[in-house]
Amino acid sequence: MLCPKCKTDRAHRSHRVGLAEHLVSIVGLFPYNCHDCHSRYLRFRDSSHEAGPSANPSGEREIVATQRIRNRERKQREILLYGLALLVFVAILYFLTREPSAGA
Ligand SMILES: [Zn+2]
Repeated sequence: MLCPKCKTDRAHRSHRVGLAEHLVSIVGLFPYNCHDCHSRYLRFRDSSHEAGPSANPSGEREIVATQRIRNRERKQREILLYGLALLVFVAILYFLTREPSAGA
């Protein structure tokens, strides 16, 4: 992780201190500490930098691909849900329109 103050690659994830840092970690913000200038700052966790010196550059692409798959699964679930709702609606409509003629 590059330090925004001294621009060296010596910033590392730091332990969360206090309620505020625990709260912001929920939205993905984690405290970082620079070993060079000892400045402390909050950054969004970057998984491609967490893997160490041998971090693969395709990490970002994998995240995007995972999100794309997740979006597709959600869309499929929505279509399934709408389809099921439509089926139930049509079934109700069918029984509603059928009943009078069956009674008569
Ligand atoms: Zn620094």
